[in-house]
Amino acid sequence: MYSPRFDYHRAESIDHALRLLSSLDGDVKLLAGGHSLVPALKLRLASPSHLIDISACSELKGVREEDGRVLIGAATSYRELESDPLLAARVPLVPVVAGQVADMLVRNRGTIGGSLCNSDPNADFPVCVLALDARLHVRSLGEERAIAVSDWFDGLMSTALRPDEVLESISVAAPRQQVRCGYVKVKHAASRFGVACAAANLGVSGDGRVASAAIALGGLADHPVRLAGLEASLVGREAHDLAQGLQIQEQLAAAIPDLPPPRQWLLHVAAGAIRKALGQCTSAA
Ligand SMILES: Cc1cc2nc3c(=O)[nH]c(=O)nc-3n(C[C@H](O)[C@H](O)[C@H](O)COP(=O)(O)OP(=O)(O)OC[C@H]3O[C@@H](n4cnc5c(N)ncnc54)[C@H](O)[C@@H]3O)c2cc1C
Repeated sequence: MYSPRFDYHRAESIDHALRLLSSLDGDVKLLAGGHSLVPALKLRLASPSHLIDISACSELKGVREEDGRVLIGAATSYRELESDPLLAARVPLVPVVAGQVADMLVRNRGTIGGSLCNSDPNADFPVCVLALDARLHVRSLGEERAIAVSDWFDGLMSTALRPDEVLESISVAAPRQQVRCGYVKVKHAASRFGVACAAANLGVSGDGRVASAAIALGGLADHPVRLAGLEASLVGREAHDLAQGLQIQEQLAAAIPDLPPPRQWLLHVAAGAIRKALGQCTSAA
């Protein structure tokens, strides 16, 4: 199917994109990697009058460390995230997750920012950034703001981003302790999106015990969720023996009480994904 007609604009910089966003009339959409938006156009799920291509905005790309935080440009591709040495050393969950998105074709074009703005509940990066307590830095013509990831997701495929804003970067606090991480995605056989995606990010102190724990789960609700009860029961455990005796399925049932059928199967699958993600943290010892 062909996409509906639209006018195409290529932004040379973020300021250029913001000026276009504020001056164009009608439904205006930003185009990053195009791997969610273009299929949506072809399926007539979206029919914007204007597309602003931000893929040439170099300020939106790359990874750097600044003021105790690791910053990732919103238009950085999964492929770049997968092989970035700073991320591998400081925020290893990001390259681990990037390596599990679809296939090489999608990873070459798709961007972290596009995934977070699209906010598909079964996608990989919403879960990842939730487990990292990330901040999302957005800009409009007159304003910059940082949004905590816990305030970003706003229902099914909906976010706190306003139509006049661009997502500029995503930042994560640089860790002060050793980090162990794990990511397990139970893939839908046809789409390869996650039926359940479990991300674990643990800070481990010098005595080998868990000092901080973040467990996020995607695929089961309209946006990813953190499992606070499970996180609390991991803190203080020896990092080489994490999942032993944990009541994962019970914690999950409490965290997502309105899970639709097949409820028991979904709980079982998701609990298995979390257990395996914790196993990856253990084997990283
Ligand atoms: C065959 C296939 C398989 C896939 N498999 C997976 C998978 O396994 N896991 C997974 O997570 N995803 C998967 N995807 C989706 C893929 O990850 C997309 O790349 C991603 O969802 C969107 O990123 P994008 O850069 O392509 O964004 P686009 O499609 O260009 O944009 C998506 C939305 O975000 C908005 N947007 C983009 N960037 C910005 C920005 N900086 N500021 C404000 N708004 C912005 C756009 O306006 C649009 O509404 C798959 C896609 C395809 C086609």
